[in-house]
Amino acid sequence: MVFDDDLKQGLAAFAALLDASDTVVPFTGAGISTDSGIPDFRSPGGLWTRNKPIPFDAFLASAEARREAWQRRFAMDTAFNAARPGPGHRTIARWVASGLSPAVITQNIDNLHQDSGVATESVVEVHGNTTYATCLSCGRRHELSWIRPLFEAHGEAPDCQACGGLLKTATISFGQAMPQEAMRRAGELARRCDVFVAIGSSLVVHPAAGLPLIARDSGAWLVIINREPTPCDEAADIVLRGEIGSILNDRADL
Ligand SMILES: [Zn+2]
Repeated sequence: MVFDDDLKQGLAAFAALLDASDTVVPFTGAGISTDSGIPDFRSPGGLWTRNKPIPFDAFLASAEARREAWQRRFAMDTAFNAARPGPGHRTIARWVASGLSPAVITQNIDNLHQDSGVATESVVEVHGNTTYATCLSCGRRHELSWIRPLFEAHGEAPDCQACGGLLKTATISFGQAMPQEAMRRAGELARRCDVFVAIGSSLVVHPAAGLPLIARDSGAWLVIINREPTPCDEAADIVLRGEIGSILNDRADL
């Protein structure tokens, strides 16, 4: 059932559902972070409609592509560094802290679930994380605060301190393999929950499009909270259509 004009009734139904459930798995997309100042890259007028994404094979093959990728990332540094968790992140952090949610699955790369107090191991990141870099050869983590001054001094990012491999933000680029362990955990969480709540995702990009239906086919209730309609709305039990920040506004009953 879709609630848009009368959200109050929908919120009451959602609160009752949470109350009657043992395991709630939240799945989040860009819409939960726009209130925090992180732009939705894919939205019309978003960064990706103006700057074509740099595919993974180009990043590997070309120093020029790598320079462009780092330049774009550091241009976003102010926004990422200033972003703080919003009402949606805080609500989910409470669900995890109380044991209602075993973990949160996210398409976001902004680290805001961890910043809201959710332990790193309870955040399943299907598109990686842009707030640090990893070595593409050995996987070692490197901090952007170390890379940036070296990039600005030399016009290229430094190599891995351990093995000399290429460093890249820990995100999943176009053409890069999906993170197997995160995908496995996301599928397992979707199959084993009582309620699957998709928040702020347009549910069109893989794997987002599939997870709500996996949950539903495994017997879970499906709740969708998003500003725009999604292709999964028809399959959902409750659709709350509106701004995430005002729907999950630190309500005591959610
Ligand atoms: Zn390395």
